[in-house]
Amino acid sequence: MRRIAPKDWYQVKRLDDDVTYICEPFIQEFYRCNIWHVRGRDRDMLVDSGMGVVSLREWVPLVTERKLTAVASHTHFDHIGCHHEFDCRAVHAAEAELLAHPTRINTLADPYVCDEIFDALPPEPYASTAYAVKAAPATIVLADGDHIDLGDRVFEVIHTPGHSPGGIALWEERTGVLFSGDILYDGPLIEDTYHANADDYLASMERLLRIPARIVHGGHFPSFSGERYHALIKDWLAEKEKTI
Ligand SMILES: [Zn+2]
Ligand SMILES: [Zn+2]
Repeated sequence: MRRIAPKDWYQVKRLDDDVTYICEPFIQEFYRCNIWHVRGRDRDMLVDSGMGVVSLREWVPLVTERKLTAVASHTHFDHIGCHHEFDCRAVHAAEAELLAHPTRINTLADPYVCDEIFDALPPEPYASTAYAVKAAPATIVLADGDHIDLGDRVFEVIHTPGHSPGGIALWEERTGVLFSGDILYDGPLIEDTYHANADDYLASMERLLRIPARIVHGGHFPSFSGERYHALIKDWLAEKEKTI
């Protein structure tokens, strides 16, 4: 399979609300994590950091311009691969151990990572069989209700277990911006990982339904409106009710 040069690995797109979308376009859409950069007055925030197969610091200069808090929405391999490149790392307490001691199994690299998840491979010496996430012990351990303060912008941590035990969403009430992680995005949701929990998932969705989001940036797939957000949650809840 064709290899991609490091300079071409990431795609960067500036959106509204001082949010920048960063992604790895040569990973197939279902496996491709959304990386979010948020500009604040005093510091910036990064929500997730991709697979870690090409240095984010080296090839996306935006992430080195200011002091930055690298938050993990949760610790699956596709979301935390470059966390080790940042000094300030935040994760929910329930997955702090995982960020400090990632393995191919506990990050889901095994069974997901193989050449077939790519349309073109990362540069040499990348090999899917040797792929592993580097340890990146958290410097900030988060709990529900904590705030990530960027000076002029504040994001509230909303604990959303279900897809994984330490999943979080980040909510900026003033602007209505929500980063939802993998608990909810506009595509097929994953509810059966080794540490997923159906009761938690339901409770998280019921809680998310009460958030008056205006724009939602999920862990995968394109961003969507608050209207779509509430429709997606209501449809999901209605589907669950049918099966109970
Ligand atoms: Zn994911
Ligand atoms: Zn995930």
